[in-house]
Amino acid sequence: MRFKPYQLAIIAVIVAVLAVFWNLYSKSVEDDFANISRTEVTRIGDHYTGTYHRPSCPNVKQIYKGGKEFTNQGEAKAAGYNPCKRCDPDGPNE
Ligand SMILES: [Zn+2]
Repeated sequence: MRFKPYQLAIIAVIVAVLAVFWNLYSKSVEDDFANISRTEVTRIGDHYTGTYHRPSCPNVKQIYKGGKEFTNQGEAKAAGYNPCKRCDPDGPNE
């Protein structure tokens, strides 16, 4: 099947629009991860991925049924959870 020139132009416009929105989206996700609060000592465990997070980690919003709350990272670790690679739940608090 060969595309006609106007069809190629429409496809090019769609790809360009998607690229712009993807850039905006990934930038906003980066900002979310850059703005994780480090003041809370509680940690949220995700049963499905086996990871624990700071409460303001963007990944926490995606946990099915809200996840399990721990009073600190030691408790989450003792329960067999692994630290999230993005919110650094073992890092120092402010
Ligand atoms: Zn996290």
